[in-house]
Amino acid sequence: MNTAVIGYPRIGSLRELKFASEKYFKGAVSADELQETAAYIRAANLNAQAAAGIDFIPSNDFSFYDNLLDSAVLLNIIPERYRELNVSPLDTYFAMARGYQGEAGNVKALAMKKWFNTNYHYIVPEIDDETELKLNDTKPFDEFTEAKNLGIKTVPALIGAFTLLKLSRYLGKKTEKDFAADAAKIYCEIIEKLADLGAEYISISEPCLVKDLTKEEISLFEEIYKTVLASKKGVKIILQTYFGDIRDCYNEVCALDFDGIGLDFIEGKESLNLVKKNGFPKDKLLFAGVVNGKNIWKNDYSKTVKTVKELESLGAEVVLNTSCSLLHVPYTLKNETKLTEEYTRHFAFAEEKLKELGELKTVLSAENYEATAEFKANAAVFADDRKALDTAVKERVAAIKDSDFTRQPAFAEREKIQKERFNLPLFPTTTIGSFPQTADVRANRTARRKGNITEEEYKNFNKEKIAECIKLQEEIGLDVLVHGEYERNDMVEYFGEKLKGFLFTEKAWVQSYGTRCVKPPIVWGDVSREAPITVEWSVFAQSQTDHLMKGMLTGPVTILNWSFPREDISLKECAYQIALAIRDEVLDLEANGIKIIQVDEAALREKLPLRKTDWESDYLDWAIPAFRLVHSGVKPETQIHTHMCYSEFTDIIKAIDNMDADVITFEASRSDLQILDSLKENNFRTEVGPGVYDIHSPRVPSVEEIVSALNKMTEKTEVSKLWVNPDCGLKTRGTEETVPSLKNLVAAAKQLRSKY
Ligand code: GLN
Ligand code: ZN
Repeated sequence: MNTAVIGYPRIGSLRELKFASEKYFKGAVSADELQETAAYIRAANLNAQAAAGIDFIPSNDFSFYDNLLDSAVLLNIIPERYRELNVSPLDTYFAMARGYQGEAGNVKALAMKKWFNTNYHYIVPEIDDETELKLNDTKPFDEFTEAKNLGIKTVPALIGAFTLLKLSRYLGKKTEKDFAADAAKIYCEIIEKLADLGAEYISISEPCLVKDLTKEEISLFEEIYKTVLASKKGVKIILQTYFGDIRDCYNEVCALDFDGIGLDFIEGKESLNLVKKNGFPKDKLLFAGVVNGKNIWKNDYSKTVKTVKELESLGAEVVLNTSCSLLHVPYTLKNETKLTEEYTRHFAFAEEKLKELGELKTVLSAENYEATAEFKANAAVFADDRKALDTAVKERVAAIKDSDFTRQPAFAEREKIQKERFNLPLFPTTTIGSFPQTADVRANRTARRKGNITEEEYKNFNKEKIAECIKLQEEIGLDVLVHGEYERNDMVEYFGEKLKGFLFTEKAWVQSYGTRCVKPPIVWGDVSREAPITVEWSVFAQSQTDHLMKGMLTGPVTILNWSFPREDISLKECAYQIALAIRDEVLDLEANGIKIIQVDEAALREKLPLRKTDWESDYLDWAIPAFRLVHSGVKPETQIHTHMCYSEFTDIIKAIDNMDADVITFEASRSDLQILDSLKENNFRTEVGPGVYDIHSPRVPSVEEIVSALNKMTEKTEVSKLWVNPDCGLKTRGTEETVPSLKNLVAAAKQLRSKY
């Protein structure tokens, strides 16, 4: 039995690529120096995999920014405005990824989107009718040769033509169908070149196959691969699929001349059934994705052995595979010095997953697998008393009643009560929560973390900041104020640190996009709240002003979606545990005089299943109730706000309304307010604050611009339901642009009021 890896993290185990790239962007290091760092990372990755005895080690999985962008460049998909800069290929590439501003010109970056159901973002290739596909780069060949020179024979990894064309944006009349034949021919050329260089296997990823597919899409896929596979020339081609199962095209895929097929047995809930029902072709290898590439928990060998044995009994020749690229997990546990063995023995980051693959190979090759030392040691980990399990929390979740999901009275009645109570003007103005996190704010937090200042000193500084922030908001003339969130590093980490049941790492970074990495907390045990978290800050803030002060919390779905979740209980149960903890906080804020409470669900849409058929049953059926559980206990006169970061929720608009918040603010200015039509069509009843300006840019919006956005809104939405606010929190902005932007926002709201 052999082992395989789909892809390895490439930011460097200590984020070396991030730091080198950022220096390069600033002009502090040369392109050659950046290339040296990249080569060092690639070599370290290859050596780690070779040392672990992996049989199918990928090459070309490295990227300076994003693999899909690499694939686009490989096929010459480079929009004219970037070519016109006439800078080096590397700088053209970075210009597409992050925009370019300099002597050669001024262009914005290509769009960026979430990569399937992960927190990784890819750059969206842009194709117009003039785009001429041709082989334009040597990256796969160079990286194969580089590895060969290190003595490591690799499997070049490519993103397939179908996925590349499906994920691209088309500006003209032509679509993916018009480019498929040309793209297929280029893949033939790539395969031939790799064969000449001595490649024995090539792996081609087609993650788009795990989505809902139409007959036409399946035909397009078949058409591409009939061409591609005809050019094999003795090289063996593995088709990799991941992030789900390929139920719509399993038989078509099996009928094609692939030499190996990768199926995901972690997220692909139908994968095993597909093999059971339809069998697996005898002439192909089955790359069984059994080691989870997306979560950090140790593999349960007893379960994996069962799956693999079952596949073998169905006649498949199995290669042990990761379920997707290891890009989505941190590098290595070796960098964690603070977590004790009691914890770390439960985890496997990328490097430890390599070891798991090797151990599983040993276990599965043994005559009596249960007798192997590896199997026994693994079973012992799963038999651990994790000391994180809390009966009280479990009982509380079990005792949740249907009525706990429903706030009383119904929306319309609450709306009336709240309008009377707050007596706000039409077009009430507010912000999303955070104010600029200036250097002094961060320094204060760091000083506290390092123990250089006392808790009291830390708090006093923040209180001064809050008082200043409130004065500023009063001067600007905002209606509903916020405290500024100076005590928070990150909206999830902050709550994770205060809640029982979460663990934090030191260096467990995961690439989010380009040079940006995140360090998700780990849900270790049952989650509960030991003491109030935000009450002191909110109460202090309210004491500084006669205006309404919003309490600010992060919702359960977002906390869960931006963490590494447990695998021993369902996501639903975990979300309900977090929801109950946040519910306690909501009720404490209310009891302490806070009249408006915002529960952010910035990431609500992020984990929506890839297949529409699974949306309700696998996600919305617990995500929306989890939110309702948070706020169903408040009085009718307490106003609940929520905030979401993407406005792309036209397809789940009913579910959003069903969260039963009183007000929702969301990011809208970049999407040209398209969402308004669908709010109208669906009789959206929640009051809305579609963001009137983009906070991702330092640009100050003019009064006219905001007025015009508001006018558009009034055409589609009842005036009595509209709020006026920026797109998102202001923490990444500077004070210089924040103050004039908010002043313009207030002036615009006033103009509108005078009209009504
Ligand atoms: N309240 C948070 C803030 O303003 C919301 C952040 C977010 O939506 N990402 O920073
Ligand atoms: Zn936001």
